[in-house]
Order: sequence, then C-alpha cells, then structure tokens
Amino acid sequence: MPTGGGAQLMQRGPSTRAAHAGVPAPVQGAPIMPGPVLAAPFHLAGEIGDIPAYNRDGNPTWELYERALAEFEGADVAIFASGMAAVHAALETTLKPGDVLVAPNDGYPGTRKIADQHLRPRGIEVRLVPTDEAAVRDALGGATVVWLESPSNPGLDVVDIGAIAAATDALVVVDNTLAGPLHQPVRELGADVTVMSATKYLTGHSDINMGYVAARETAQLREWRKLTGAIPGPFETWLAHRSLATYPLRLERQLANARSLAEMLRERSEVSDVRYPGLGGVVCFTLADADAAQRFLAACELVIEATSFGGLHSSAERRARWGTDAIAEGFIRFSCGIEDTADLLADVGRGLDVLRSA
Ligand code: PLP
Repeated sequence: MPTGGGAQLMQRGPSTRAAHAGVPAPVQGAPIMPGPVLAAPFHLAGEIGDIPAYNRDGNPTWELYERALAEFEGADVAIFASGMAAVHAALETTLKPGDVLVAPNDGYPGTRKIADQHLRPRGIEVRLVPTDEAAVRDALGGATVVWLESPSNPGLDVVDIGAIAAATDALVVVDNTLAGPLHQPVRELGADVTVMSATKYLTGHSDINMGYVAARETAQLREWRKLTGAIPGPFETWLAHRSLATYPLRLERQLANARSLAEMLRERSEVSDVRYPGLGGVVCFTLADADAAQRFLAACELVIEATSFGGLHSSAERRARWGTDAIAEGFIRFSCGIEDTADLLADVGRGLDVLRSA
C-alpha cells in the first residue's frame, strides 16, 4: 500500500513527517485517512496465501501505523499492545538460556521484574547495573544483550549510547521512551534496537496503551506477537496514528514547559535535586518529605496527580509511593503537558508556596 507525503519524507521537518507519515496516497473520492479495520477473521476461501487470515496475523490499520512509525525510526517497526508487551517481546526474542543480559537497576521497574522473575529462572544471567557509562562498561564482558534506558525512569540519568555501542559486540537495545525518536535517534547513535512505550508522548492523550520495537528486521518479533497475542486493538491503533500527527507540536510545548519549570524550580528553596537532562518533558525534583510532596500535589490546580508521563495534561506523582525505586520519599516525577507556560509555572509556584507558609 503506497503512502503519501512523497519519497523524501524522511528528509522533511518533524511536523511535516508527523502529518504525512503513514497516510495513504490520495484516492479520488476516498477518505484521506481510512477508518479502523475492525476484524477478527478475514474472509479466506481455499488455500492460505500471503494475506492476513486472522487479526493476530496482521491488520491494515496496524500496517499504516507501522509505516508511519518506520518513517520516524528509519527502521522496520512492529507494534504491540503496550510498552511492556514490546519490552517483553524484545527480551524474549533476543535471549536464550546461557546468554547474558546487562540491564539497568534504576530504570523502569517492569523491565527488571521480567528479567528477575522470568529470565533468570530460565538460565539467563542478568547483570543489573546503574545508568552510568563506567558501570555499564564494567558489566560488558560476555554480554549477549545490553539494555539501556536513557534517560532512565525515574532518575533521568543518561548514558552515552554511542560510546557503549562502540565498546561491545553485544546487541544494544535502547528503551527510548523518555526521549523519543525525534530528539534521540538511537540507532543513528549505534544501537541495534529501539523499544518504546508509545503510551507516553507518541500517543500523548493519556487514553491508549501502545508499544513498539524498531529494528533492522522484525519477522521474529511479529511471530512472537502472533503467538503470544500481544496485539493492539485496531481502534487503539487508529487513534495512535491520529495522535502521531500532533506529536512534534505537543512535544515542542512540553519541552519548552520542562525547560522553564526546571529553571524555576532551581530558584526555589523548598526544592532540591532538580533533574532535567534536556530530553523529553519530564522533570524530577525532591521536596522535604512524603508529607510535603503530597501537600504540594494537592495544592496544584492544573497538575493532575497520576502516574505515567507524556500526556498533554501536566501530571505528577510522589514516585516513592510505589516502593520500586531507590529514591527519596519526597521525590516528585513531574510530566509537563501543553498548557501555557505562564499558567503552569504559576500553578506549580502556588503549590510550592503552600509549603513555605506551613
Ligand atoms: N518503558 C518505560 C521507560 C516506561 O516508563 C514504561 C511505562 O511507564 C514502559 C516501558 C511500559 O510501557 P506501558 O505502560 O505502555 O506498558
């Protein structure tokens, strides 16, 4: 199925790519963007061929979204029902008993839980190390897969992806959820595989779970998806594709808000350890204790207390409430939305003022 936007879409600006990515070449009288194809089986008479027979094999709505993402990633893309389904698929299709996985001990907890609870018991050696270049380098000997998450969630620590890729023959997989493909093209930096939770910035409206893996070749991942049933619904996929068109626009505002927020927070005496690596819209900082953090969250009017990040409404949480990360009790993970910067800063400022007057 040919897509529109011209052959040179990869060379065009981010908003142009987002608006045209995966949009079919126009057909007289047809909608510009086809609707979702809702199906379980497809009609299949007689012999089986190279067409989807069943929705776990393939779906035209997936195909358009995968093409769109491939235009962003410059690689083949397989979509999954969630970021975790993508993480799981990438781990299971690259590791077998006897192999060695190097992965972050300070990244998204779901990834290391899979490593601990499902890979280790099957005879895969798991080396969990901090998101720090020297620590990763020390763990590289004999590695089969090096899994990086940069920036890490929730500490927002970064590693030099290119330096690690140059230092190892292992397969380098990057969970690029925090930074995203526009600002951190990880395979151009030397990584082999990208994993994304598209639940965050790419879909951006806090209403869909979606994930994908981008790699030179995705046949094994597609087979894994079919066998495990980790498939996204066609309607969610269609919504995700629709949301992609505004991804660069949303991200531009989220980045501007994050930069301004980090600057403001650094001036506030109630706040310590402001973390913002300049990638994505998440800013982390620490308040005095759990009580101060909860009072701050309750006092903000625009900022919704919720987990996750990347949505167009600003949200925040006291991350230590989950008990999964080595962080201070008053650690706040703050996700900037697309609100006007002045309104957002005023709201956060009011939330911090409550701590001053207590
Ligand atoms: N990877 C990272 C870095 C994440 O932060 C998350 C979720 O927060 C995931 C993967 C899992 O994504 P999902 O919630 O879409 O399953």
